[in-house]
Amino acid sequence: MYDTVIVRYGEIFLKSDYVRKRFEDLLARNMEDKMRRERISYKLYRKRHRLYVKTNETGVVCDILKNTFGVVSVSPAREVGSSKDAVIEACLKLAKETIKPVESFAVRVQRTGKHEYKSRDVEAEAGGRIIDALNVRVDLENPEKTIYAEIRDDAAYVFDRKIDGPGGLPYGSQGTLVSLLSTGIDSPVSSWMMMRRGCKMLFLHFGDREEIKDVVEKLASYAGAELPVYCIPKDEILEKISAHAGRYTCVVCKRFMHRLAEKLAQQENAYGIVSGENMGQVASQTLANLKQINCVSMPVYRPLIALDKDDIIKIAREIGTLEYAKGGRCAYVPDKPSTEARDDAIKTAEAELGIEQMLEDVKDRYILKQR
Ligand code: ATP
Ligand code: MG
Repeated sequence: MYDTVIVRYGEIFLKSDYVRKRFEDLLARNMEDKMRRERISYKLYRKRHRLYVKTNETGVVCDILKNTFGVVSVSPAREVGSSKDAVIEACLKLAKETIKPVESFAVRVQRTGKHEYKSRDVEAEAGGRIIDALNVRVDLENPEKTIYAEIRDDAAYVFDRKIDGPGGLPYGSQGTLVSLLSTGIDSPVSSWMMMRRGCKMLFLHFGDREEIKDVVEKLASYAGAELPVYCIPKDEILEKISAHAGRYTCVVCKRFMHRLAEKLAQQENAYGIVSGENMGQVASQTLANLKQINCVSMPVYRPLIALDKDDIIKIAREIGTLEYAKGGRCAYVPDKPSTEARDDAIKTAEAELGIEQMLEDVKDRYILKQR
């Protein structure tokens, strides 16, 4: 039945003509990259504030596009001519295929362009034909099933559902950020949220590549691009830090991560850092400790800061990263981590550690090498 996917996008409307064109081009390119990767045969075209994908594989295309940043919703549809009869016939055909005998229904028509009929005429006539043909009743207020027609100049698209996309802006429409990615629940969500706003992501992970491989792949499926990952072996670093920093280990560790992220960001021309920190969640996330962790001059984006854990878990489930989270506490968390690290204690621990030298060594060994 379906031969086209209608793609609706959102905020791009708000932009100036020049920016809008750039964003639309990027969205189209991202969509095409993903479809090509899945070896879909398709034709893509654009008509006022919508993209249309002509294809025999509308199901797969909807699945791909509902996970593409910038897409507000998609509908598998049937394209027909814009004469009144053609639209009504298509509505009737779709109704026969999709409305169950006892269901209530409505027909909704939207029209742009010049036509010799009104949208309401089509709604009424198509509705009547459907009632005659099927044992169903109209409910305009609260229908169980809706048959939609969008009529655009000389073409019309008939469909019966809108599938939500993630919204946001096309991936890559902003610059690059370095995201601190752990094996937990939070940081894949914070990365995803910034990616949804168009930011390109580069990951920095303290630990093995293997343990984050799957979650990175999941995030990459939204981006439609490979996402670079820098991995740093963490035991050697953390053994040193915990030997000198004691109760302040977590804070010094996070300061180290943020400073290394800044160095990586400078090397890769990234504009800032993303972290999954969340107000009050663990000892290192008190206001006093977050103040200490905020030790770089680059902006640090913390999109989860004011969410509840339940909300973060809900998003993680929806975006498909929850299943890759590994539980378990970091082996280096001290028995009684400090919730209020003071400047002098941090300074002393970091001086003893020779933190600047440590950072340079780690950068030379692992960041430059992985370029
Ligand atoms: P998450 O669920 O993301 O691990 P968390 O609640 O466990 O978060 P922490 O472990 O204290 O919190 O980490 C706070 C943030 O620091 C993480 O969200 C992440 O951005 C960064 N981070 C923590 N561990 C690592 C790691 N091993 N590698 C890179 N970044 C990390
Ligand atoms: Mg963690």
